[in-house]
Amino acid sequence: MAREKVKALLAREAAGGTVTVQGWVRTARHGKEVSFLEVADGSCFAGVQVVAGPELANFETCVRSVRTGCAVSATGTVVDSPGKGQRFEIQAQALELIGPVADDYPLQKKRHSFEFLRTIAHLRMRTNTLGAIVRVRNAASRAIHDFFQARGFLYLHTPIITMSDAEGAGELFRVTEFDPDTAPKKDGKTDFSQDFFGGESFLTVSGQLEAEIGALSMSDVYTFGPTFRSENSNTSRHLAEFWMVEPESAFCELEGLVDLAEAFLKEIFQRVLADCPDDMQFFNDRIDNSVLETLRHIIETPFERITYSEAISILEGSGQDFEFPVSWGVDLQSEHERYLAEEHIKRPVVVVDYPASIKAFYMYKNDDDRTVRAMDVLVPRVGEIIGGSQREHRLDILRERMRAQGLPEDHYWWYLDLRRYGSVPHAGFGLGFERVVQFMTGMANIRDVMPFPRVPGSAEF
Ligand code: ATP
Ligand code: MN
Repeated sequence: MAREKVKALLAREAAGGTVTVQGWVRTARHGKEVSFLEVADGSCFAGVQVVAGPELANFETCVRSVRTGCAVSATGTVVDSPGKGQRFEIQAQALELIGPVADDYPLQKKRHSFEFLRTIAHLRMRTNTLGAIVRVRNAASRAIHDFFQARGFLYLHTPIITMSDAEGAGELFRVTEFDPDTAPKKDGKTDFSQDFFGGESFLTVSGQLEAEIGALSMSDVYTFGPTFRSENSNTSRHLAEFWMVEPESAFCELEGLVDLAEAFLKEIFQRVLADCPDDMQFFNDRIDNSVLETLRHIIETPFERITYSEAISILEGSGQDFEFPVSWGVDLQSEHERYLAEEHIKRPVVVVDYPASIKAFYMYKNDDDRTVRAMDVLVPRVGEIIGGSQREHRLDILRERMRAQGLPEDHYWWYLDLRRYGSVPHAGFGLGFERVVQFMTGMANIRDVMPFPRVPGSAEF
């Protein structure tokens, strides 16, 4: 049980009262004389052992039939446990079976594969792993809000439905009121001017453009919300729906942003280690025995900082046989990012100043005319965990880049306006929340760090 909960239980016990524990039975052992029920309520990693004996009126009629998965309510006294693995247990004075379990309950004691558990997402949070994931997500979310709030960043709620493609990557889910079979046409194409919003609309791929609007009025803002990308890549790092944290700071350049990203990651890790010790120990014991050491090491060491050009030199001189060959101008692939963070530098590395040609139109152009002030934070095992940049706040250069990328100016009129009315240097980054959770827990597949993952071919539950 969570330490607070144990304390509360013991306090009530000390006051001479009984305690009540409600939850689901993880395991039930029915011995000759007594029954041992491991009851967990999901609030923390450990369950509590409930000991029920024949003095209970319903011992034969009910207690003896309690099985894994049953919902129960047990009232009794807290006693020191003679058994191994727990400090105390509950000697039941009453045990109520609130929700019995059907015979085909799929979560039996044996270990199930994560693939199988994905098919029963309505029950998998009752397992050790998914329960721990949900608690870590909760602690990390709280840490994220606390981090920004303590620094005076305002939480800005950005829209989920949008008309702009912030990433320009075209991985958009369309939002429409039309029935595809009867949608009105104009010149042979669907006429979205008659659609709900009066134009083509999509689910957002990023809250960045709106966060920039926020920063240019409120100085420091952040968003933390769902984003959607129709990534048709079946990878272990991509979801079609994921949560993104996007701070945006006015009067801030690239260096300030890198500092913010480093402090931010360290604080999340620190807080999760402090708030979820049992869950993190579990991940270390059962999923990846390096996660605790890695996180502690990251908290203590300064991040390495290199330029994209330096990264390319390292990769070219690595003697590695990469699937995607490396030369100046190519986008870093996951294998390259991992080599840098995992093999070469062996800790998180921030890569800055990428070629303009591979980055989005809104990134600040350096004086060399060929790179932009982009930054990616790369970590071992996962690769890119944060992507961000100083934004182009100079109107003429922004226009030039939009023209070069074939973006319609009239569509982004408000974004350009911001460069005409009190424009200042500003910068921000995006952090894929699930990627961080993956990194912290060592979970191999991103589908197992999201309670209800959306991926190609699957949006059940
Ligand atoms: P990748 O190259 O891994 O596809 P990206 O370059 O598309 O990432 P950005 O557009 O920079 O990513 O998005 C910001 C952050 O969101 C990334 O650093 C990553 O942590 C996360 N992210 C991006 N796409 C996904 C996805 N499909 N599922 C989960 N997280 C994602
Ligand atoms: Mn992508």
